Amino acid sequence: MYDDNNIFARILRGEIPCKKVHEDDHTLAFEDINPKAPVHTLVIPKGKYVSATDFAEKATDAEIAALMRAVRKVAALKGVDASGYRLIANTGVEGGQEVPHLHIHVLGGRTLGAMVPSK
Ligand code: AMP
Repeated sequence: MYDDNNIFARILRGEIPCKKVHEDDHTLAFEDINPKAPVHTLVIPKGKYVSATDFAEKATDAEIAALMRAVRKVAALKGVDASGYRLIANTGVEGGQEVPHLHIHVLGGRTLGAMVPSK
């Protein structure tokens, strides 16, 4: 069940400000409020999708294509497409997802190290 009051829904409605990086018909990209790397931008669909699972099941092909194209656009705008970057979509409880609206983290600007912390 999608929560209309999650923080990213409120950003999409303009109720909470964000530092916008990119916007198109299907997506919005903005700076993470607590950056973990010199580049840390979030890319979200404008549609009401809780997670990557929900998005893959219900989004249109146009929405899915737009999200990946927006990610690539953000990488270029942030200047990390040549140096490299990491995409993360935390999903569900064990994935560590905190905000229940699908978001792709675009991280870069330094060597990012291990993909996940060891136990
Ligand atoms: P996740 O753990 O994958 O759900 O990541 C949620 C991310 O949202 C975290 O990196 C937070 O720093 C970020 N975040 C939370 N609130 C805001 C906000 N108002 N603007 C931008 N980023 C936010």
